[in-house]
Amino acid sequence: MEGGNAAYAGGRRGSPVFPREYQAETLFQIDIAFKMRWQFSAGGRGRGGAGAAEGEGLLQSRHILLDFAAEQEHARRIRIITQSEIMSRKPIIAANWKMNMGPAEAREYLAGFRKELAAFDGSHVEKVLVPPFVTIPAVMDALGGCSCVGVGAQNCSDRDNGAYTGEVSTAMLAELGVRYVVLGHSERRRYYGETDSFINGKIKKALAAGLTPIHCIGETLEQRDGGQLESVLRTQVTEGLAGLAPEQAASVVIAYEPVWAIGTGRTATARQAQEAHAFVRSVLADSFGRETAEKIRIQYGGSMKPDNALELMAQPDIDGGLIGGAGLKPDSFAAIIRAAC
Ligand code: PEP
Repeated sequence: MEGGNAAYAGGRRGSPVFPREYQAETLFQIDIAFKMRWQFSAGGRGRGGAGAAEGEGLLQSRHILLDFAAEQEHARRIRIITQSEIMSRKPIIAANWKMNMGPAEAREYLAGFRKELAAFDGSHVEKVLVPPFVTIPAVMDALGGCSCVGVGAQNCSDRDNGAYTGEVSTAMLAELGVRYVVLGHSERRRYYGETDSFINGKIKKALAAGLTPIHCIGETLEQRDGGQLESVLRTQVTEGLAGLAPEQAASVVIAYEPVWAIGTGRTATARQAQEAHAFVRSVLADSFGRETAEKIRIQYGGSMKPDNALELMAQPDIDGGLIGGAGLKPDSFAAIIRAAC
């Protein structure tokens, strides 16, 4: 046992063993070595009131905790408080539907999704659906004014209004009740030639309209293999957010999406993702100061699924997910949200 207190008395595979007196209490809140916090309520017998224990040491992953929880006869509810929450970074999970789901399909999706959401307490997570433009009104309608799920757009214009055929302005999106806009997605960079300075113009328009930009960045496999990971991410972050005041930057969400992991089924390992996120946060600190950088949420995107979300979300600098394929099914998207709770 390292550091910690009596609550960590060792145990199978290093799991903590709680002394009996703690088991009758209703709440434990524990800080562990790598600063993930967790909390569980155990009850049934004894109404000893709230108890708290503080310690650090043996727990190395959520999985150990969940295994431990499953073994506890009286455990009723487990909730892990991540580093994001400690830093007041509310986890944000968004489903980018891309060019999928017309209005009718979206209505069907929402019926299933709302049922899924009703089955657990997802209030600790910001949930966002990002439909195609034409589907936005149907999604709003199906949400019936429920602000528990935010709606985002997949793009916006860098202009206010006028003769820009095919464009959609931030004011139009705001009028529909849209709160987020995904910008700089690798598909827009790759197929439509979007550059960092173009994306920067859109980010500024989004902020001016009160929308939250989700600024996508990420390296290709060639760039990673060629040792350019850091320079690519640094350029995308600094040029994409150029000219923003720290208060504006604090409200931007960054989505780190390694291009080689998008839609390929090949996820970055939790370690690779954490390293990239920590690097991105250091770049944000260089540009806007450490305090602001600690407030900025960084999502991971790239084949995130129910079975890898827990491990990714357990990383201290991963504050959510931008989900493509797995966001097209209400049950798998809800399962990812659940993993972030
Ligand atoms: C994406 O396109 O942003 C994405 C992460 O897709 P997928 O989850 O399908 O890899």
